[in-house]
Amino acid sequence: MVKKDHRSYTCQAIVVSCMDFRLRKHLIDWASKILTKGGYDRVAVAGGVKNFGLLVDQVALSVKLHNVNEAYLINHEDCGAYGEEGTFEKHKEDLLLAKDILTQKFPKLKVVPLYLKLNGEFVKV
Ligand SMILES: [Zn+2]
Repeated sequence: MVKKDHRSYTCQAIVVSCMDFRLRKHLIDWASKILTKGGYDRVAVAGGVKNFGLLVDQVALSVKLHNVNEAYLINHEDCGAYGEEGTFEKHKEDLLLAKDILTQKFPKLKVVPLYLKLNGEFVKV
């Protein structure tokens, strides 16, 4: 359904990832396949879900302003914001905690935590 004369202010999802420039192409390719139902809000902040307070505020605004139904939380391999502690297990722990909190706060929101490898592979956590 295409509305030609009416601009819609709702979108499908919010995508939260690290700001790391190495992710950009992978994220764009992935989004062009997954997020095809009407656009998405983007939050790019160092460490992804590591900065959880900021993330919660952004998701809350995205839900309120754009009525998003899905939130994708994407941490990645070799993240400088995590440094030495950035093992897959640590990212998984942080992503799942972020998912739990967001799901409690926004029960209707589908929250999808993902781990992005630098070769472009998205791993479910
Ligand atoms: Zn990073």
